[in-house]
Amino acid sequence: MADKARIVIVGGGVAGIEVATSLGRGGGADVILADRSLSHVWKPMLHTFAAGTAQADRQKVDFFAQARRNSFRFQPGALTGIDRAAKRVKLMIEAAEGRPEVDLAYDLLVIAIGSRANDFGTPGVAEHCLTIDDLTEAEHFHDQLRCHLLARLDRGGMLEIAIVGGGATGVELAAELKHAINLLSAYGSPDLPQRLRLTLIESGPRLLAAFPERVSRAAARTLSDLGVAVRTGAMVTAADASGFTLKDGSRIPAGLKVWAAGVKAPDVLAGLDGLERSRTGQLVVGPDLRATRDPAIIALGDCASLADPQTDKPVPATAQAARQQAQHLARHLGGALASGGTVATELPPFRYVEKGAIVSLADFNGWGTLGRYTFGGGRLRGLSARLTHDLLYRQHQIGLYGPVRGTLAWLLDDLDHLISPPVKLD
Ligand SMILES: Cc1cc2nc3c(=O)[nH]c(=O)nc-3n(C[C@H](O)[C@H](O)[C@H](O)COP(=O)(O)OP(=O)(O)OC[C@H]3O[C@@H](n4cnc5c(N)ncnc54)[C@H](O)[C@@H]3O)c2cc1C
Repeated sequence: MADKARIVIVGGGVAGIEVATSLGRGGGADVILADRSLSHVWKPMLHTFAAGTAQADRQKVDFFAQARRNSFRFQPGALTGIDRAAKRVKLMIEAAEGRPEVDLAYDLLVIAIGSRANDFGTPGVAEHCLTIDDLTEAEHFHDQLRCHLLARLDRGGMLEIAIVGGGATGVELAAELKHAINLLSAYGSPDLPQRLRLTLIESGPRLLAAFPERVSRAAARTLSDLGVAVRTGAMVTAADASGFTLKDGSRIPAGLKVWAAGVKAPDVLAGLDGLERSRTGQLVVGPDLRATRDPAIIALGDCASLADPQTDKPVPATAQAARQQAQHLARHLGGALASGGTVATELPPFRYVEKGAIVSLADFNGWGTLGRYTFGGGRLRGLSARLTHDLLYRQHQIGLYGPVRGTLAWLLDDLDHLISPPVKLD
């Protein structure tokens, strides 16, 4: 019997871990998942870890354990290069002593390494701003928040935080921080909410540009009512240790500065052996998700650039699109492998199904869109949008753990709310 096909998946985020789990369970290929980190988290939760309103330890999925349970191999390592002629992918184990390099042979390489915020080279941002693009950064932000809070616990003084980027990440982070500070005020510092000066800066004319105008207006109103200073049409031209400078010369003072604007692919993709890239650095793929210049390479999720053939617009960089691509690949590749096909088998074209967008403003409000229909808004009606937001994560969790363990994990989270404080205090 011929050897099984070797499928290497680099990046175990929303898309990569779902593909590895599904192909591993199918058993038709030798599957290796590589990631720079040792555990997976659902990226749309990062702002809650940053604010401290969710505990990352409870939500992490250990890659080694996931691999063992689902019959694939996990290889720690950050992507450093590819030798396309020899079909080998190179990784560096950043966390290991001496940062050793490994290289793995593949028949099919799946790249799913996500994206990062884009500072467009704005002076001072790299040195002075925090980002929350992965768990390490979200936890670092939380450490910094705690340092600033502890310094003001007894001596008073304002806590000034500014967030750049009025998309879903910036809006959700602003609301979550407000929620966290309200919760923290119950633990010995009742005037904390009055001492928070939180500013959300957006260069475009409105927040949440991907949503209908009605949602943008309502989100801006909710944030303003919560005391967040919303600055739209405000272009940041520089950042320094004490705040941001805007194009009109005005200043926004801030001790804690977060850059949550723009999307770009990780820099490592620039050095990948002649593959076609988009303006923002993503790997350009055809409708079957294969790289335009190499059929042995597939790119998924935020790091892939694919035009939706029905609308000619790019498929958005969202968890929803990443999951759909992962499920499409797992279904068709898994089917081909099971029936004795090889990885050279044609894959049917991927069709993105826009199932609407959801934005959740902590416990305060939430909205969703389904085609032309918008739901949510208001503390009670916003609950439906917030529950739908949570449901997306629970579906992902059940996909990874299976229905019994996935439901148990969900239940344990709910029970944990009865025991642990509602906000991280240590
Ligand atoms: C705060 C926040 C809130 C969000 N909220 C929403 C939301 O409400 N709804 C929604 O649809 N989307 C949301 N998004 C966007 C969503 O998280 C992404 O679109 C989605 O995670 C993309 O999935 P992915 O698999 O492409 O990449 P990711 O999920 O980002 O996974 C990338 C993986 O690659 C690994 N990796 C990175 N670089 C390397 C390397 N060089 N070598 C090896 N491994 C590497 C990472 O460790 C990670 O495991 C949010 C994003 C953020 C930051």
